[in-house]
Amino acid sequence: MTNNIKTLDSQYIANTYSRYPVQIVDGEGSILTDENGKHYIDLGSGIGVNIFGQKDPAWIEAVQTQLHRFQHTSNLYYSAPDAELAEFLCERTGLKKVFFSNSGAEANECAIKAARAYAAAKKGKEWSTIVTLRDSFHGRTLTTLAATGQDMFHQDFLPLTPGFVHAEPDDLEGLKQIVRENRVAGILIECVQGEGGVRALSDAYVKGVAELCEKEDIVFMTDEVQCGNGRTGKLYAYEHYGVLPDVVSTAKGLGGGLPIGATMLGMKVENVFTPGKNGSTFGGNPIVCAGALSILKRLDDKFLAEVTRKGNFVKEYLAGKPGIERVSGLGLMIGVKTVKSENEVVAKMMENGVLALTAHGGMVRLLPPLNISDADLKKALDVLLAAAA
Ligand SMILES: *Cc1c(COP(=O)(O)O)cnc(C)c1O
Repeated sequence: MTNNIKTLDSQYIANTYSRYPVQIVDGEGSILTDENGKHYIDLGSGIGVNIFGQKDPAWIEAVQTQLHRFQHTSNLYYSAPDAELAEFLCERTGLKKVFFSNSGAEANECAIKAARAYAAAKKGKEWSTIVTLRDSFHGRTLTTLAATGQDMFHQDFLPLTPGFVHAEPDDLEGLKQIVRENRVAGILIECVQGEGGVRALSDAYVKGVAELCEKEDIVFMTDEVQCGNGRTGKLYAYEHYGVLPDVVSTAKGLGGGLPIGATMLGMKVENVFTPGKNGSTFGGNPIVCAGALSILKRLDDKFLAEVTRKGNFVKEYLAGKPGIERVSGLGLMIGVKTVKSENEVVAKMMENGVLALTAHGGMVRLLPPLNISDADLKKALDVLLAAAA
């Protein structure tokens, strides 16, 4: 540990993060290097961000090309990268329009605004309730904290934005009752809950939510900040369920390491925003969007099939091994419930050259770069198994 950096960090960086005692100084693909020259296989990818790993040549090329043209113009003028990225997203999903921001929380804020604007215009402004799920995670702003169904994040910040109700995941009857008892504008779910425990919602539930929203004219929203952009073996996780949401928010992996949020608006809500109703100084930044397009273009069916294959391999490799209770998730979004505590397992893995994440509910969470090699993946899983045994 370069002591100086640790000292500077604890003296000057707001005390919101408890960091591992590792300083990263370099990386290449799925490998990170610390200040002592020790290598790690990265099964976290910056929390599902670096989906093509570090120093991804195609992304660097796209970013550098745009960097040498212009870096930022504001949204007062037209520019190509955001328009082309939006076109790509809409063509691939069937959604109609995109609002760009800079983070997952902002992407969800926009989704919530879209749902409330739609309901206010259609049914009246008292129809403002947004239903989200227990164990969800939607961000850190006061409104997305209200959306987040985990009380531990709420403490110290009350009052949060009003108008949020939390439902039990996979309980369709309970959700129907909430819809009967509240004036609901929108329902926001993660098809695969990430931070809250790496839990894929059931097929019947997600289909049921989509049908309920259709029937009651409620805005159906999926938060694909973590499970989107190829992570689960589909471009967006809702595709596993054969549904098309009215609103899809995403961020994390979309930018390949630069900050971006995107809120995709389907037919039902594509015109809820008019000039002045939302905005972001940096939203649609040309450098970020040029990089994002280079990422998305490579997430074709062949590549996504590889994500599925690797995800299945991970599950089969870990299932039933000593110290492993169960394995959850979809594609390369994987939760591992270990007999030992998740923190102990992750610390041991780090000692032995593998970085992994944790999630709520005592889970070790794996979000490797989607292009991780089979050899690195297997090597990392062997380290996990040794740590968990
Ligand atoms: C990380 C995450 C967010 C918040 O994204 P930020 O970019 O940190 O604001 C929202 N929703 C989900 C599902 C996430 O995983």
